[in-house]
Amino acid sequence: MKHTAVKGMHDILPPDSARWAVLEAKARHVFSRCGYAEIRTPIVEKTPLFLRSVGEQTDMVQKEMYSFVDQGDEALTLRPEGTAAVVRAYTQHGVYQQDQVAKYFYAGPYFRRERPQKGRYRQFHQLGVELFGAAHSFADAEVMAMLMRFLEAVGVRDVRLEVNSLGCKQCRPKYYDTMREFLASVAEQLCENCTNRMATNPMRLFDCKNTQCQTALTEAPTVQDYWCGECGEHFDQVGAGLDALGVTYWTNHRIVRGLDYYVRTAFEVVTHDLGAQSALCGGGRYDGLVKSLGGPDVPGIGFGLGIERLLLLLEQQGASLVTQEATNIYVAALGDDARVAMLPVMDELRRAGLRVQWDFDGRSLKAQMKRADRAEATHTVIVGESELADGKVIIRNMSTKAQDDVVLAKVVDFFT
Ligand code: AMP
Repeated sequence: MKHTAVKGMHDILPPDSARWAVLEAKARHVFSRCGYAEIRTPIVEKTPLFLRSVGEQTDMVQKEMYSFVDQGDEALTLRPEGTAAVVRAYTQHGVYQQDQVAKYFYAGPYFRRERPQKGRYRQFHQLGVELFGAAHSFADAEVMAMLMRFLEAVGVRDVRLEVNSLGCKQCRPKYYDTMREFLASVAEQLCENCTNRMATNPMRLFDCKNTQCQTALTEAPTVQDYWCGECGEHFDQVGAGLDALGVTYWTNHRIVRGLDYYVRTAFEVVTHDLGAQSALCGGGRYDGLVKSLGGPDVPGIGFGLGIERLLLLLEQQGASLVTQEATNIYVAALGDDARVAMLPVMDELRRAGLRVQWDFDGRSLKAQMKRADRAEATHTVIVGESELADGKVIIRNMSTKAQDDVVLAKVVDFFT
């Protein structure tokens, strides 16, 4: 029987895996400059964590979670998103007791049983950040600016940062009521999914991909007319902060977040280059979530960015993330004596920071040169019985084809 990976879950093989590593390294670099440090939480959490944080009525909880009961009768779930677990860890370890402000970033796999298609998988990966303990609008602006600087650093083009405010516990209910009234007036034009969602989160209907629903929503009220004074002020200040940081953004009052816990700022980075999966990144403010999960009343804000989608976009835009190391050496040693003599030389070259490969099986020179080509070697070090007897090697530059005789003891000097 031939085994295959689970539908919607993918292996990441070389050379692709190098692009992943570069992306993660760049994120680490950009985020750490703003004071963010890495957090790693388990992939499996207790199911109630997500029921409480994501919301029992959300699609994610209702339809998409990989949940199971383990041998000890514990209800567990493969994490479908990042924020809840980070909030749990922040609270569990009493991080706030020393300092409420904590800045984390993370990269890892998440699991949602969605319908797989290009840019949408059942195991996908996110780069995320969470900032706790900062209620000021400048925190929102800085988080978004950091995200855009990261996207700049990886060389992505033509993406839009769209920003909204979802209001707060005080002003949002009034908006929801008006929205529900409006939706009742166009109810017969809405798809089944939207009809079901109306009661729990009427704003979510803006996310529906059904064109008939979108047409029905043309005249729908939007949230900004219902903001309380503080929410309006917060939104204006976020904009002022983004302006001061030189970040271009668009206001979009139809931005919603799929999860229940967001308040005020919600944002997305979108692209037109990925077809239906236009959202590259989503984030927002979640003041109140930490408290509702049993922690202190500490505000929070964060985002999650889909690594697969970013890589797809970069590929489509022809951006090459991985720069080849300048020197890539292939050792073609013929005969056991030459092979043994090259072992310490290879070791020294590698310790000097150079990439060195060789043929374990000691095949013919022709076969080894073929391997060197396949390995995209910049130089081949050739050593046979006669070179060994003379205590030297031939170093061949694979692009110019020039060959140098080099004394065995000077091979490392040649490359360094
Ligand atoms: P969300 O947590 O739903 O706001 O998602 C944040 C980001 O993760 C999205 O903007 C996507 O880039 C990515 N993402 C979410 N779900 C998937 C999925 N099923 N497959 C691939 N990427 C995803």
